[in-house]
Amino acid sequence: MSTATGALVLFSGGQDSTTCLAWALARYPRVETIGFDYGQRHAIELAVRPVLLQKITALHPEWKTRLADDHMIDLGLISRISETALTRDVAIEMQDNGLPNTFVPGRNLLFMTVAATLAYRRGLDVLVGGMCETDFSGYPDCRDDTMKALQVALNLGMATRLKVETPLMWLDKAATWRLAQELGGTPLVDLIREDTHTCYLGERGAMHDWGHGCGTCPACELRARGYRQFAGQAA
Ligand code: ZN
Repeated sequence: MSTATGALVLFSGGQDSTTCLAWALARYPRVETIGFDYGQRHAIELAVRPVLLQKITALHPEWKTRLADDHMIDLGLISRISETALTRDVAIEMQDNGLPNTFVPGRNLLFMTVAATLAYRRGLDVLVGGMCETDFSGYPDCRDDTMKALQVALNLGMATRLKVETPLMWLDKAATWRLAQELGGTPLVDLIREDTHTCYLGERGAMHDWGHGCGTCPACELRARGYRQFAGQAA
């Protein structure tokens, strides 16, 4: 058990942030969640959040006592000042700078800064995010150095000792499924398969072995490949 007073988890309703939520519930005496409405093309992520929050507490009696307030923050200004495939109705494609246009510049920097502001008021000393450098689209604001620099900047700027924890930073998607298995066994893996949302196109559609989604967008492909690898190793 950690000596921290509590953690604020950046919780979007996807596979990664749900795994991070379970990771935090296993460690901290009080866990709050924060979600951002930034004009995503598909509000499905936001719709699955309350379902996940309610169901995850049923998995472990201690988790039920530790999970506290959920905070939804309106960051609609992101979609007003940026143009990306996540916030506009345009096709997903690679840009000249080598980043896909699903990259929302500054998003994680802003999310962490807003989360730190909220954690300050709520007396929470750990921020938990699902950023991952190993297996994703090369988003620069998911990198370990970015998060470490941000931790320093936030603490300098607020005179705090906040810790930024990114438990998935060095895991690939198969290892993220394995972490869920370790934290909450098959019931947590099933909850993540059935109720989290990852698909960029916002499709729920049919239930695949790895969960709902279109099956062909980059996020679905990554999730499906990781799950099959995980399931193959577990078999
Ligand atoms: Zn998809």
